[in-house]
Parts: sequence; structure tokens; C-alpha cells
Amino acid sequence: MKYVSTRGAAPELSFEEAMLTGLARDGGLYVPETWPELSKAEIAGLAGLRYEDAAFRIMKPFIGDTFGDDEFQDIIDRAYAGFGHEAKCPITQIGENDFLLELFHGPTLAFKDVAMQLIGQMFEAALKRRGERVTIVGATSGDTGSAAIEAFRGLDAVDVFIMFPDGNRVSEVQRRQMTTPVEENVHALAVDGDFDECQARLKDMFNDFAFRDTVKLAGVNSINWARVLAQVVYYFTSAVSLGAPHRKVSFTVPTGNFGDIFAGYVARRMGLPVDRLIIATNQNNILHRTLETGSYTKAGVTPSISPSMDIQVSSNFERALFDVYDREGDAVAQLMDELQGQGAFTLSQGALQRLRMEFDSGDCSEDETSAAIATLYRMTGEVVCPHTAVGIKVAADKRISGRVPMITLATAHPAKFPDAVEAACGLRPGLPARMADLFERPERLTHVVNDLVAIKDIILQRTAHER
Ligand SMILES: *Cc1c(COP(=O)(O)O)cnc(C)c1O
Repeated sequence: MKYVSTRGAAPELSFEEAMLTGLARDGGLYVPETWPELSKAEIAGLAGLRYEDAAFRIMKPFIGDTFGDDEFQDIIDRAYAGFGHEAKCPITQIGENDFLLELFHGPTLAFKDVAMQLIGQMFEAALKRRGERVTIVGATSGDTGSAAIEAFRGLDAVDVFIMFPDGNRVSEVQRRQMTTPVEENVHALAVDGDFDECQARLKDMFNDFAFRDTVKLAGVNSINWARVLAQVVYYFTSAVSLGAPHRKVSFTVPTGNFGDIFAGYVARRMGLPVDRLIIATNQNNILHRTLETGSYTKAGVTPSISPSMDIQVSSNFERALFDVYDREGDAVAQLMDELQGQGAFTLSQGALQRLRMEFDSGDCSEDETSAAIATLYRMTGEVVCPHTAVGIKVAADKRISGRVPMITLATAHPAKFPDAVEAACGLRPGLPARMADLFERPERLTHVVNDLVAIKDIILQRTAHER
């Protein structure tokens, strides 16, 4: 399987190269050159398998000969060994035909662990074999950073630098998960800016080829194809446990960067009978507005109680654009130039129509988010995080009668956002026992201004001993 850039002007890469590279050199994102399909019998054959065994079968067509079969299965087994639930990504029922897909049983209590733990193991195996080391730099609105740090802490071949917005835009639990690991290869950078600015600095670094080559920069933000791939797995396992491929299922996905929902789109391309794929945004609703109006127009980010979705530049959306523009990299590159220059672009009628055939969308205000937490708690005793609540609210708005099950992705454990949850439903969710001392551990972080040179300097200094 070869990987091509969404902007059509970067070399084709193998899975291993695409994984280690992250962003393509033409500024685009890597996608497989074709979508492999699983037959109905192959999908039916996933029923009853361990999560790790299903994951092997679903991801295998994408990885080519990067890993041998036994090696790949070992990597997957190691990745999910630390999860706090035997099913890894279990579903629970919250209504007659409504389900939650619990993606928060990993070490940092958010769905990003599902991909990041796997990436950590894959990087380690690939780099060891190549005798190389890399510098991982990430930008986070909270959950990606802690998940990356958990996945890479203590590994020999990797330094990990995570930029996050300074101040109170990340929750205290999120910040402490990034600042309390003691391993020397972990560097938490509090940037004087918002998430989009952190992400912009990250893109700047990737576009600075001299710097990129000097520190052997690697990216694990949701632009990394391997992350999207890891997330495809739970669409299959949850759908199959509710009767797929003999029965269709729908998904509602709380989304910001479009990574998680794009994985659902990939599952559909691979043959999973997904009925509706619903984008759920908070008040930072650029994706919902785009689907409504055809115009992708940046507005400022308004901080919300679902901070991991406080995003106005939705990186993975580019992958969907690539497909709805018939995989013409030039067309995508032009839209992205417009976005860079004017802060907006308008979709062609054809592209908009095709997007609307694949995705439905809705948004959720702050009050509606709190109300959704309170209502679900009252009706079922289930306590959910604010991101999940955004999904539940949008799923309810979009409900149409019929017997297609609706699976809403539960993207974080409520204890990651205890203030918002307590304010909404009166109950303060506690951290699982394995993290109970998080608030006593000493913190270690570096404050830095929102300036490319200043950030690069820190990274160069801290990795100098390896060159
Ligand atoms: C990252 C994150 C999201 C958004 O996921 P995307 O892949 O960026 O769309 C939603 N909820 C939580 C808890 C997250 O950490």
C-alpha cells in the first residue's frame, strides 16, 4: 500500500515512512492511494474476536510489509495491555436504540490513547530496526499531548515536546498529565497562545525543512495517518457487536480536528454499513457551518467546557476534501492557499453535495452541553464528559425514527473535566484509583512565547546532546 499527499506534490511513501513523517512536504496529509475493502464475510468474521485480533485484521491491509504478522500482533497487544477495561473499547446502552462507545479506558482517560498507544509501539519497533531516533513535537488542546507523553515516555529513540495553550484553557487534570511524568525525554511547553496558534507553530516547524531534518522531526498530531487508522478499528468492533454487517448502524462523533469522524468515513469506505455519520461540534462550529453553507470561514476560538474541540482549523478535513474533489491534489492545495490567505474558502457545489452525502452535522451550545450531562444522569445514572455530551445532544437532535442503532462516541472520562461535570449535574466524578495521586505529583514545564524562533531554540538546545 502506497500513501499519497492530499496536495499531490510530495513523494509517495510506504506506511512506515508516512507514519514516521506525519505532514507531507507539500503541506498536505498522507492518505492511502486506494481504500482497501473487507468483504461482508470478513466483517462478519470479526464478531466475538478479542479487540486486538479484530484490530489486526482491520489494519493489516494498510501497513504493507512494515511489520511481520507476529510482530504486528505483538505491537497491538502491547499497545492495549495498559487499558483499564478488558474489552478495551466497550459499548454501553443509554436508551432504547442509543449506545455509548467508551473510548476512555486508556492511561490518560481519553480516546486519543487508542491511537497514541499503538503509535508509540509502532514507532519504537520501526526506529529500533532502523537504528534511528526522532524528535516528536505535538500541539495539543489538552488530550493529544498527554496521550503522546504517555505513549512515548521513557522510550530510548524519542524525545517528545508538547506545546499547549498556557493559562486555564486546558483543564488541570490535562495539564498535570503532561507536566508530572518524570522521564527526561518528556518536555511540556506552555505556549502563550491558543490551540490554533500552537498548531500553526507546529506546521511552521514542519515547513522549515532545515530544522525538520536537524532534529529529525516527527509528528503524531491527528494529521498522522497511523492515528486515523487506529481509530477505524472501534467503528468496526462496535458496529459488529450491534449486528453489522447484517444491520446498519449510525455514529455521532464529537469532533474538532475531524480526525475521529474521518476514521468513521474510512470504515464506511472499507465496507462497513454505516448509515449516518454525524459531526457534532460545540459552539466552535466551523464544521457544522461548512456543511450548512458550503463556506469554510475561520472565526475566533471561543473557549468552551469541551476544550478539546475548541478548534477553528480542522486539519483532517483536508482528507475528506481530497476525496470529494476526486483526489485532485491541485484543487485541495488551492483551497488551502485561500484559507491561508483569506481565512476562508468556498466549496464547489459538487464537493458540497458529496460531503453532505457522507456527513450530517449539528452543534451544541454551552447550556445545551450542561443540560445533556444533567439529563442523561437523571435518566440513566450515567455520567459523561462535556465532549461526549455534545455528541449526545446532537444525536438526539438528529434522531429519526427507525431501528438503526445510534452509537455516540464517548471521547473522555468525566473525571478529566470534573468542574464542568459537577456544575452540570451536581456530582463530582473521581479519578480512577491508578491516578488518584495526580494532584500531589510535582509539575515540570517550560513557559514560552508564541514565537517560532523561541520554540525552535528550546527544542534545539534540549536535543543537542543527541547530535
Ligand atoms: C481530541 C478530542 C476530541 C476531538 O477529536 P478530533 O479527532 O480532533 O475530532 C473530542 N473529545 C475529546 C475528549 C478529545 O480529546
